[in-house]
Amino acid sequence: MTDDLIIGGVTIKRGERKRVLLDVAKLYDFTDMNIPIEVIRGKKDGPILFISGAVHGDEINGVEIVRQILSKKALKSIKGTLIAIPIVNVFGFNTKSRYLPDRRDLNRSFPGSSNGSLTAQLAHTFLTEVIQKCTHGIDFHCAAINRINLPQIRAYLDDQVTKDMAEAFRVPVVLHSELRDGSLREATRELGIPTLLFEGGEALRFNGKVIKSGVQGAISVMREIGMLNPAKNKPTQKEVFIARSSHWLRAPHSGILSAKKKIGQRVKKGQVLGIVGDPFGIEKYEIVAKRTGIIIGAATLPLLNRGDAAFHIATFEDAATVEEHVDLYDEKLEKN
Ligand SMILES: [Zn+2]
Repeated sequence: MTDDLIIGGVTIKRGERKRVLLDVAKLYDFTDMNIPIEVIRGKKDGPILFISGAVHGDEINGVEIVRQILSKKALKSIKGTLIAIPIVNVFGFNTKSRYLPDRRDLNRSFPGSSNGSLTAQLAHTFLTEVIQKCTHGIDFHCAAINRINLPQIRAYLDDQVTKDMAEAFRVPVVLHSELRDGSLREATRELGIPTLLFEGGEALRFNGKVIKSGVQGAISVMREIGMLNPAKNKPTQKEVFIARSSHWLRAPHSGILSAKKKIGQRVKKGQVLGIVGDPFGIEKYEIVAKRTGIIIGAATLPLLNRGDAAFHIATFEDAATVEEHVDLYDEKLEKN
């Protein structure tokens, strides 16, 4: 590896902190589409970590998480390099949309191509100019519009380094995922770059606890991989719980949802999570838990057609313990 790090034609030397505008494409209004990036290189060698937000343009919690991480004084003494991309999908961010103008989902378009659609070009440029130069990564997301997610990590946990990072992030709920869906996470897995996906909160809203959770988690991962000094007080008991599977419970009938349970709560097999009914209160249809688990995502808009997703349930060996830790974690975020 040469000593110079070059992104978008800009050289970043050891000990430098620089902002780069990564050129992606020219739009039809004759303006340029750039991805703004901040690179912080320590004087000493170490990992090269990317932290990215708004791959889905309307998922703004991640933008704030990256912004807050960038203001940390501890970054002055990092080993290695932090590459911060607060807004990857700049076009979607400006139009408050998940997508790009060609209506494609960036997180289904990796690895992309230099001759493809605008989204494919963005994916390709981002992958080759930024991601391929990294050794580790964290990508911040929220639930899609009209849904909310419990803070959680999704990652390919059969890789030990990824698993260590997931545990270091210290959100109680971690989901193992083997998706092959054109996502940034899949692209990094192909490249052998251990990457976490953080999920929490909802699109187009800030959520203080989710933001705090993301910032603390990322800093903790930076300690784990040796970019920052190790924490003084490491956890003595198990705090992180891995779900190997999750499933959605969908509306059995079109109607208006009256939810009985919310994210973070445990549900037992056979329990009623909500009732979908007509506007007159006559016909009622129950949404019943198929398995015991924890609600990690839920609809916030209570207007559902038959088949619409209502509750996302993750299953664990011991859901009661997980529920307890989700509560404790939530209290901790409230306090400090
Ligand atoms: Zn997303």
